[in-house]
Amino acid sequence: ASKTFEATQFKPTPNNLEAFFMPFTSNRAFKAKPRLFVKAEGMHYTTIEGRKVLDASAGLWCMNCGHGRKEISEAVARQIAEMDYAPPFNMGHPSSFELASRVAALLPAGLDHVFFTNSGSESVDSALKIALAYHRARGQGTRQKLIGRDRGYHGVGFGGISVGGMVNNRKWFGNALNGVDHLPHTYNRQEMAYSKGMPTWGTHLADELEKLVALHDASNIAAVIVEPVACSTGVLVPPQGYLQKLREICTKHGILLIFDEVITGFGRLGASFATEYFGVKPDLITCAKGLTNGSIPMGAVIVSKDIYDTFMGSAAEGAIELFHGYTYSAHPVACAAGLAALDIYKNEGLFDRVKELSPYWEQAIHSLKGTKHIVDLRNIGLIGAVELEPRAGKPGARGQEAFIAAYEAGVLTRVTGDTIAMSPPFIVEKSQIDQMVTTLRDVLNKID
Ligand code: PLP
Repeated sequence: ASKTFEATQFKPTPNNLEAFFMPFTSNRAFKAKPRLFVKAEGMHYTTIEGRKVLDASAGLWCMNCGHGRKEISEAVARQIAEMDYAPPFNMGHPSSFELASRVAALLPAGLDHVFFTNSGSESVDSALKIALAYHRARGQGTRQKLIGRDRGYHGVGFGGISVGGMVNNRKWFGNALNGVDHLPHTYNRQEMAYSKGMPTWGTHLADELEKLVALHDASNIAAVIVEPVACSTGVLVPPQGYLQKLREICTKHGILLIFDEVITGFGRLGASFATEYFGVKPDLITCAKGLTNGSIPMGAVIVSKDIYDTFMGSAAEGAIELFHGYTYSAHPVACAAGLAALDIYKNEGLFDRVKELSPYWEQAIHSLKGTKHIVDLRNIGLIGAVELEPRAGKPGARGQEAFIAAYEAGVLTRVTGDTIAMSPPFIVEKSQIDQMVTTLRDVLNKID
């Protein structure tokens, strides 16, 4: 029998849950007991049953300004009525140039040029392609190897899953890209459990890059890609000095450094981007999510002046410099949403608000220490992770149960394996942070 919406008293047409093949979800478990949101405002979702749920995860790490922002919905409505679409190849429209300038203005000098995509995954694949083409354009076409990191998440394109290091995202899909290698991840519970912010242990793990250079030779390596904070794998905060060291090794060997800032971009750490927060400047940055406050799909790759100038200088006059792009690159409606989101960040001082809230957030997350099942707590900016002891022989089962129980108790979190992650919108109030922590504590005390 096909699953229907009956359990929810909601009667859409067709009254059937079967057709939608849901992403990254147990379709069977979900369709047996659906969890449906129908409304979102401020810090809350409303479920189809009419229950309010506090959004502790900013949707999927993307609703940084909170939900239902009129400035964005009105800008989107205006734009779609005025001009619904314009081709980005050989044609343009003003707001794409304005948005690119305003994104570049959020970044340190030298990271000046913006290529638009429609998602984080597309941003990653675009950045990897730009890195390869850049080396070819400057006569170093042997530099084809890409280096990612274990437990990295770079979306689900073939490039992203190849440099990524989450096994389930790769093992079902053949070899993906050849010529990829991986750094070790930076997590070691024995050395860094319950660290507040950046762990002091683990800087030396960046030296593993020297070993990969020795193995493959720098002349064959195009780029290293890492998330400054590895979020989707369960929030792994970089050891102090680690990113600086990666930068030094990349510079020494002429290897491009790519920061995947799909989550850390647009304020999540209390600075515009992680590059500013950590004081480390990569050659390329990927972003998405917060760019439009998650309202309209959009991503971007920011590239250095050197990379852009190399493309401009290497192609014949009048020739296309980069053979890459999407029908919806710089979509006018997404640009309108992006400009409105950037206005909100600025007008409401939301990146500073994250900075101001971070100490309270840190103390709140770490107040869970000693709660049943917890084996580690991690935090940085407005990101927190609660790692649970897995059930014997059933990795992920306790995490999933805690996630569902928290949702039923009125708080939306994010679960990866047995780690519960939280990353609220920047408009979160202290009382709501307290509610998140209290709910999690109660839930963990109740489940086995
Ligand atoms: N890169 C990072 C670091 C991410 O966290 C994500 C998504 O969470 C992606 C890439 C993929 O983004 P998208 O789901 O928009 O393709």
